[in-house]
Amino acid sequence: MTAWTLAASILLAAAAYLVLTGFFATWRKYHGVRLITCPENGRPAAVSVNAFRAAHWRAVSGEPVVNLKSCSRWPEMGGCDEGCVSQIEASPQSCLVRAIVADWYSGKSCTFCHHPIARIVWHERPPAIRETDGTIREWTTERVEELPDLFRTCDPVCWSCYVVEGFRHDHTDLVIERHRIEETMHTIAPSSAVY
Ligand SMILES: [Zn+2]
Repeated sequence: MTAWTLAASILLAAAAYLVLTGFFATWRKYHGVRLITCPENGRPAAVSVNAFRAAHWRAVSGEPVVNLKSCSRWPEMGGCDEGCVSQIEASPQSCLVRAIVADWYSGKSCTFCHHPIARIVWHERPPAIRETDGTIREWTTERVEELPDLFRTCDPVCWSCYVVEGFRHDHTDLVIERHRIEETMHTIAPSSAVY
């Protein structure tokens, strides 16, 4: 058996272990930042689950062990009983921040170009928002736990307008407005002459 064959066999065995034991599916299920309601104060908080640990215990014992890896209320509330985990286990997908943001943009149109916000491509063309003071920014720059309050007061902005209007807002001295002159369509009147 060559070194390459041995390496391929090990990789295949590892992939089979990750898939067949549910490790990969569990990791995907609990990966990502979530927005929950903190049971202690009833306010939104951003948390993330230790997805690797949950996946490990799913693979070893058949049941995932779900614990928080981070919380926006830590370290002040560090050592809490993590009562919000029940919200995550009840509906892991609906409290994902990306799902909440996508749901907010769904059916909305850009406040500048009025085109519907198309399917969100997070890594290439994330959508943006316009705040009440006119500031335009990507939603990812916001603190997640503030999103519910922010979405109540801001307007949706598509990625293209975020680039154009953001530049216009930040660099007004570099922008020259030129209004396009609409050309009128001239039509030739039908002739009654006989040739
Ligand atoms: Zn737009």
